[in-house]
Amino acid sequence: MTAIRVHGGVDVLRLPVNQEEHVCPPWFMRYTQSHILHSKCSKTGKEDQSCPDDQNACQFCMYSRALEMPHLPDMVFPNNVLHLKHKNGALIEFRALDALKRVSNGRINIQLACAEAWRESRSDNQEYLKETIKPFDWTFTTDYMGTYSGFEIEDTEEQINLEKLKQKEKILFYADLTLFEDELHDNGIASLSVKMRAMPGTLYILLRYFLRLDGVMLRINDTRIYHEFGKGYLLREYTSKEAKVADIKVHPSLFIQPNEIANHLPLVYRSNQKLIVPQGASSSVNISKPVTSTEKVPR
Ligand SMILES: [Zn+2]
Repeated sequence: MTAIRVHGGVDVLRLPVNQEEHVCPPWFMRYTQSHILHSKCSKTGKEDQSCPDDQNACQFCMYSRALEMPHLPDMVFPNNVLHLKHKNGALIEFRALDALKRVSNGRINIQLACAEAWRESRSDNQEYLKETIKPFDWTFTTDYMGTYSGFEIEDTEEQINLEKLKQKEKILFYADLTLFEDELHDNGIASLSVKMRAMPGTLYILLRYFLRLDGVMLRINDTRIYHEFGKGYLLREYTSKEAKVADIKVHPSLFIQPNEIANHLPLVYRSNQKLIVPQGASSSVNISKPVTSTEKVPR
């Protein structure tokens, strides 16, 4: 645990940040994990007053300005970041802000039909009435697949080698981060989380958006990234699954277990792509950092 200065200005907060790094040449991986986003401006300390300038805005003001949402999820973790960098400069990161930028806001989303019905049934609720005027996806559904730079991306037929992932290998690096979560006013849950594990031969990442709207629907948007060390590319698979609760023929106890219920939801959309690592060196990764390993095991 190391303490860092998170905000400037009046609230000099020194909050704990959990961080772990691992070097597996030519890859460098790191996660950071820290506190939830404040619910008001941390510089002015007031809900109706925000940071005066964009340059030195606190995280709350930065999020509010970048997203223009009527409200953010109950819990946003701006410092929970998973970072994977190749020595040639290609970079993958997972960040809450980038994920929330891909929530449909002010746009009509046909997939929201179910949610619309639910909202109408709650039309006594002023907040939702307000949101009907300005369409806002309060389920925070996102098709975010991560933040990428430096890769050449092309469609592929090649599938993730699930058999290889099932092999028992030592876990050299493990991360499990929540990026955001909202309880939908006690009507279910919407969450985005990312998990990663690196083994001697492979690395695997699962970014999952999970929505459970009680009595209405379930939705899971998964992004899986798979890499066999030594190959010049990673595989990325994106799937979107959803169903109305009335159409799901399994016991509702599974509805709170994303890993289980994912097997029972019909596929709505899928894409498979190759993330090709650039050749040649433009290294900014310091691979002389000490190699760490963890004894943690994935769930
Ligand atoms: Zn502020």
